[in-house]
Amino acid sequence: MPPIFDKPSFEKYDYVVIGGGSGGSGTARRAASYGKKVAIIEATTTPGGTCVNVGYKFTNVGNPTFDWKAFKPQRDAYISRLNKIYETNWAKEGIEYHHGYGRLTSPNTVEVTRADGHKYTLQAEHITVAVGGTPTIPSDDKVPGASLGTDSDGFFALEEQPKRVAVIGAGYIAVELAGIFNALGTEAHLIIRGETVLRTFDPTIQETLTPWMEKTGVHIHRGSNVTRVDGVRGQTLTVSTDKGEKIEVDQVIWAIGRHPQTRDLGLETAGVKTDEKGDIVVDEYQNTNVKNIYAIGDVQGKWLLTPVAIAAGRRLSNRLFGPEEFKNDHLNYDNISTVVFSHPPIGTVGLTEPQARKKYGDDAIKIYRTSFKSLYFSQVDEEHKEPTVYKLIVAGPEEKVVGVHLIGQGSDEALQGFGVAVKMGATKKDLDDTVAIHPTSAEELVTLR
Ligand code: NDP
Repeated sequence: MPPIFDKPSFEKYDYVVIGGGSGGSGTARRAASYGKKVAIIEATTTPGGTCVNVGYKFTNVGNPTFDWKAFKPQRDAYISRLNKIYETNWAKEGIEYHHGYGRLTSPNTVEVTRADGHKYTLQAEHITVAVGGTPTIPSDDKVPGASLGTDSDGFFALEEQPKRVAVIGAGYIAVELAGIFNALGTEAHLIIRGETVLRTFDPTIQETLTPWMEKTGVHIHRGSNVTRVDGVRGQTLTVSTDKGEKIEVDQVIWAIGRHPQTRDLGLETAGVKTDEKGDIVVDEYQNTNVKNIYAIGDVQGKWLLTPVAIAAGRRLSNRLFGPEEFKNDHLNYDNISTVVFSHPPIGTVGLTEPQARKKYGDDAIKIYRTSFKSLYFSQVDEEHKEPTVYKLIVAGPEEKVVGVHLIGQGSDEALQGFGVAVKMGATKKDLDDTVAIHPTSAEELVTLR
């Protein structure tokens, strides 16, 4: 077992990180690689954060007899192994793991409260807050019975596959969970406020995925707000909407976004500013308003994605502790690629069409688009062939690629390489000059007319 520390071993650390998720771990490990004295404070016994513990996607099993009861302990054992890998890596790299609740008590001190109530303080030259976020559930005052439902964390704790489920929300998690349940044979209801899912994504993505989800069996309740949930947990729950519907299910899952875990962190004591949502305000270098205190990952409210937190954390440690060449290192948040593991998956980078039109003007924008059925489905009945739609948004006379939006089988894998191209400033001509790889779906992106 790697050691867990219960008191300070140094008078002053170079770096203390509050939160042992992907971002916290990434920044701590990079700092340790520069020979710094580093401690991580983690409140849970399961290091790795949300993505590792409750973020792993299931595969599209598509088998109505899927054995949930057998699968769940296997998944839990796998996650346990990942938790241990985090602890082992920290120990190998000389990072102290302090197990307790971290609270800022000044710009240079963090108080650790262990589960048994014992408290001690770590002094640090630099402190990073990387405590992440937590799923949002409306209060019972706002939506009576809301707490009868669970959230994405609760989804991973389900011991049995529900026969009927209502997922509320229209973002990444709602779409992914409704897709998983539907593929596994659960009667899946998706309750959305708008007319489409993923309303922050390009309209082409919304308009392709929403009807396909419906066609494959997800019951989408459009333009609906949940007004109350009645029943007894573990038995039938009735979800009422403002359209007068009453939907009977076995589980209700809220997936309406996440909020930062900034309460009781001592931010006010240390003088760290938050915005109206409670997100820690940082500049492009992850600096808070207090010298030597930084924030990375979901707690700063921008791009709630694990690889973003890791990338920002590593660059922060490069800047603080690395060689001269890294003295200005920071994450550029432009053109971050992202994938939704919907059925079929989505990959997207850059601006949506409305964003591009607003930024460059209608005349400067050109859209290339194709829709087809992937060869992968050539032996499948026509009506079961998943749609593939690719959209390229280019701007200006040089036709610079400013947005790539993919939906269809393999889009998750295809996007990474195109993400590099967009980050490098690729033009339509660069794509045209690239010889296609045949027969693939992604080749359609270099042959668009
Ligand atoms: P998202 O921010 O993706 O989506 C939440 C959506 O829920 C909103 O866009 C909104 O859509 C809807 N919503 C908001 N408030 C309400 C409400 N009161 N009632 C009903 N609907 C509401 O949040 P998620 O919870 O899905 O995911 C959280 C974060 O986790 C995401 O930001 C994502 O970055 C990350 N994540 C990433 C994954 C990946 O990389 N594949 C996988 C899972 C999570 P509308 O306005 O249309 O109603």
